[in-house]
Amino acid sequence: MPPMLPDRLPLARIINPRSVAVIGASEDVGKFGGRVIHYLIRHGYSGRLLPINPIRPVIRGLPTHASMAAVPEPVDVAILAVPAATLLREIETCATAGVGACIVITGKLADAGPEGAALEARVAAVARRAGMRLVGPNCLGIFNVTDGAMLSSSLALEVARLKPGGIGMISQSGALMGALVSLGHRHGAGFSRCISVGNQADLDFCDFLDYLIGDPATRVVTLYVEGLKHPARFAPLLRRARAAGKPVLCVKAGRSEAGAQAARSHTASLAGSHATFAALCRDAGAVLLDDPSVMVLAADALDRLAPLPRAGTGVAVVASSGGSTVTTTDMLDGFGLRTAHLAPATRTEMARWMPESHVHLPLDTGSFHDNTSEEALTGCLRAFMTAPDIGAVLVPMTTQPAMAKRAALLPPLAREGGRPLLYVMMAGEVGDAAREAMRAADFPFFDHVAQALAVLRTLEAEAEGRGRAALPPPVRPTGAGPLPAILPGGALTEAEAKRLAAAYGIPVTRERFAATAAEALAAAEAIGFPVVLKGVNRSVVHKSDLGLVRLGLGDAAALRAAHSALMAAPVPLEGVLVQEMARGEAELILGARHEPELGAFVLVGIGGVLVEVLRDVQLAPAPLRAEDAQAMLRRLALWPVLEGVRGRPALDVGAAVETLVRLSWLAADLGPRLVELDLNPILLRAAGEGCTAVDARATLREAAP
Ligand code: ADP
Ligand code: MG
Repeated sequence: MPPMLPDRLPLARIINPRSVAVIGASEDVGKFGGRVIHYLIRHGYSGRLLPINPIRPVIRGLPTHASMAAVPEPVDVAILAVPAATLLREIETCATAGVGACIVITGKLADAGPEGAALEARVAAVARRAGMRLVGPNCLGIFNVTDGAMLSSSLALEVARLKPGGIGMISQSGALMGALVSLGHRHGAGFSRCISVGNQADLDFCDFLDYLIGDPATRVVTLYVEGLKHPARFAPLLRRARAAGKPVLCVKAGRSEAGAQAARSHTASLAGSHATFAALCRDAGAVLLDDPSVMVLAADALDRLAPLPRAGTGVAVVASSGGSTVTTTDMLDGFGLRTAHLAPATRTEMARWMPESHVHLPLDTGSFHDNTSEEALTGCLRAFMTAPDIGAVLVPMTTQPAMAKRAALLPPLAREGGRPLLYVMMAGEVGDAAREAMRAADFPFFDHVAQALAVLRTLEAEAEGRGRAALPPPVRPTGAGPLPAILPGGALTEAEAKRLAAAYGIPVTRERFAATAAEALAAAEAIGFPVVLKGVNRSVVHKSDLGLVRLGLGDAAALRAAHSALMAAPVPLEGVLVQEMARGEAELILGARHEPELGAFVLVGIGGVLVEVLRDVQLAPAPLRAEDAQAMLRRLALWPVLEGVRGRPALDVGAAVETLVRLSWLAADLGPRLVELDLNPILLRAAGEGCTAVDARATLREAAP
């Protein structure tokens, strides 16, 4: 009688299995199956271990079974590193044997082309029918550091022991995960569960993210993403992590075009638009990074140091070397950081320890080569660790006598205070004793100032995300909507798109359509000279490229001349649009898109043709709060211009914010009907004078039948 179908094994049991079968177990650690069993034993796996080997009766002192079919007891997890050619057969055997889940290290499946993809689909189908879960294929398995269950062949497990800690990791690349865990280990970081998901034929990224959010051992989540199988699940999970008080740090492959190409082939998944992904992460309070090493070291800082009280407070750089404090301070700006402003109370406290000449930041305690130096350092640090004006303390230590002893002073001080203290050992080998002292004290250290600054910037971004998560949900402004009852599909004309925008309270030019020259003149007189004349053809994307935009027509003669010029245009026209000539100090583009599965997004940037040249745009999911719109504008390179530079007036940022918020509600309401909508440009005037959309373009999907 075939065994009963097991219930699908919960993730917690896959990660912490009661029994593990290693298919292709071997004495040879040069082989995948040899390493898997070696690491399970070395790291103290405490469940049932079942080596499967058709030839040898005993492996590493454990009796073997010839095949999964011969195992007389239920097995939670089987690990397979068999060749692709025999994978399907082995999976079928596991399914028949009632295995709960298979971790498939075997590669060359969907990652190797259509033939591999077809095989992978068959493997997944067999597993699904049997109620058996799959991790991978093309993965390196799972390090369950918390429970000592290392279900992996990764060489990161060569160390005698990995330290349990709060960092959880999900990685689409097993090799990168190995390197990152090993790097973290060198710095004394502790991990909870590290999961390499590979091709995600069954269990995917979001399944494991969901698990880590609920996992009490995980305090910080790190992610290396190439592509998501179910993008729609991702942002809600990020928000749940935030609500659970767990920071999420993420590296997404494919920001560069070359990177995106490579990522598509790596684990056979679509890379998606990086800008969209970045906007989703930011909105959900997660931090998106470029550098995986920084991700791990920052996660460690979040796990083992006090959190940054809030974003935007400055840094206190302190060390006993003028050289290191000054160069570190010079580098702050490049990382978007700044030196803290000292409050009077902090100065008073510093003056107890330092001569007046030294009561400032950066603090160099080095001029005191006597016993008072240590006392001064400790006294000032103690003050900094609670000072409301200081967000973080950075100690770039150089070669000096008693480096290890000096280093050992810091962890207790840091633990008393409520600030992150980042310790950098700038020296090479001679600094190793100090590094060892930090490991012994269970305290993070950095090897370079740049590394610590990149981590600090990440802590800033994390604190910002924490702040965002506390904001109330967006509120619809009065007069934003509703959508017109009848919405045509396809490309809208400028006037149609503007009417849609106006229905959401967005200020647009006064204008009128005219079929003839006489109608155009009447329209211009009603609107008032000077006017603008535009040729109307809904399939033209850039009107001015075809000479279809005539600006600043001051009188009837100019209007008539412009009208006949338009009539001679190289494209057929439905008529002309007569509109008021608007003024403005700056041109912005405001846009909206709908991304399948991810929802509506809005963008803002430098308007006109410059948008394509400068790519100075910011993106965020719709709808927006006013705070979100304001933050988007602040992140533009154009921002100083909006604030008013060199005697030019400050512009009406409030009007731009308002318009962006209104557009975001329009985008959200259009939902999947929206392909794209651009207001390009919006002319923005001086503070208090508002803004006007002078051009609009929109493409809508046909209404669903
Ligand atoms: P295009 O299809 O080429 O984008 P636009 O309608 O945006 O055509 O016009 C091109 C440029 O002309 C705009 O970027 C803006 O600088 C200017 N412009 C267009 N309409 C007006 C208007 N009503 N008032 C003032 N300037 C305008
Ligand atoms: Mg335009």
